[in-house]
Amino acid sequence: MHFLNARLHKPSGISIIEREVPAQGLGTYSIEEVRDIENNLRTQFSTDNTLDVFVFFAEESNESDAGSRVVLGTAYRNTSLVMFQKTIEEFSGGLNEPSRENVESTVYQHEFCHIMGLVNIGTALQSSHEDDANNGHCDVDGCLMSAQLEAFNPLDMLSVVGSSVAQLEAQCILDLQANGGK
Ligand SMILES: [Zn+2]
Ligand SMILES: [Zn+2]
Repeated sequence: MHFLNARLHKPSGISIIEREVPAQGLGTYSIEEVRDIENNLRTQFSTDNTLDVFVFFAEESNESDAGSRVVLGTAYRNTSLVMFQKTIEEFSGGLNEPSRENVESTVYQHEFCHIMGLVNIGTALQSSHEDDANNGHCDVDGCLMSAQLEAFNPLDMLSVVGSSVAQLEAQCILDLQANGGK
């Protein structure tokens, strides 16, 4: 919440509505399955003055996960994101792992920035910092919008996420500001 208020101009405030959804019992998720669930559940959409974002906290992992590569979250539509909660929990909060809160906040803020159009997916670049090898991401090491904060080898979790929540670096912030953010 603090992050959203810090980066978005929403003078009438930002509200988040949470709803309990029964376990789907589908096993691992493909993005198509996540879209289907959204189609069945989503009741609110953005209007002129309100940004409505659908966030699905999946109780299972992404079906494309392999041992050496896991996906923690995905922004899959312009106002929809999924957090692969099982994967996040599996690789955080333990010995030599970053805290659950840090991993969750990092992934959530990263996906939310995709919805705000970073990097170069709706919010125009003000300088050249898009990662050539990973479209939609930033090439500055350690930036919140690094591709490696989203999908990586779980053994690298601690070095990728680190001991605090990653921050947007200056070039990403300038992009947002040029597009009406803060
Ligand atoms: Zn990303
Ligand atoms: Zn950046």
